[in-house]
Amino acid sequence: MDKIGRYTFQEYLKVVEDFHGNPSPGLVLGGIMVDYAISEVPAGVLFDAICETPACLPDAIQLLTPCTIGNGWLKVIDLGLFALSLYDKYKGDGVRIFVDPEKLKGWDEIANWLYKLKTKREQDKDRLLAQMQQAGRAILSKRRVQIKPQHLGKTSKGAISDCPACGEPYPKRDGAVCLACQGESPYIEK
Ligand SMILES: [Zn+2]
Repeated sequence: MDKIGRYTFQEYLKVVEDFHGNPSPGLVLGGIMVDYAISEVPAGVLFDAICETPACLPDAIQLLTPCTIGNGWLKVIDLGLFALSLYDKYKGDGVRIFVDPEKLKGWDEIANWLYKLKTKREQDKDRLLAQMQQAGRAILSKRRVQIKPQHLGKTSKGAISDCPACGEPYPKRDGAVCLACQGESPYIEK
């Protein structure tokens, strides 16, 4: 693995550190996965992304593609799987990249990390990142996917009005009052 997107491996570690706070293994493996996925999208196709975990991988997608949570081109659907897909945003056909357990044999430090067989303290992070660089796409598999129609396109929030309880604008389709006032608020009332 020489390049991740337009970066060398070492440059990518630096970019990750600046963005994410530390060169987390998940973001390094994620970068290799996203780079692989991009190479599988035909030139000229406008793609969206689905990420199947909220951990680390979304940041790799946001660093290496135009897809972000904020612009709506990246959706996180938490299936607990370390996998992503890039797909034609209109037709929904694309490619899914995932870590293939069959291919992890011989990459003990990666397996130790992925299956949490070692505590963070026991991990040899340099060895782990070196194995990721060496393995590159060799531990990954791809498969063609077709995205369900309900996941294509932007989901409109519909009409907006002021919440009768708190007074802030909210999507009316959420109910008589906003979701926060329905008890979804994460804040303790003072
Ligand atoms: Zn409210």
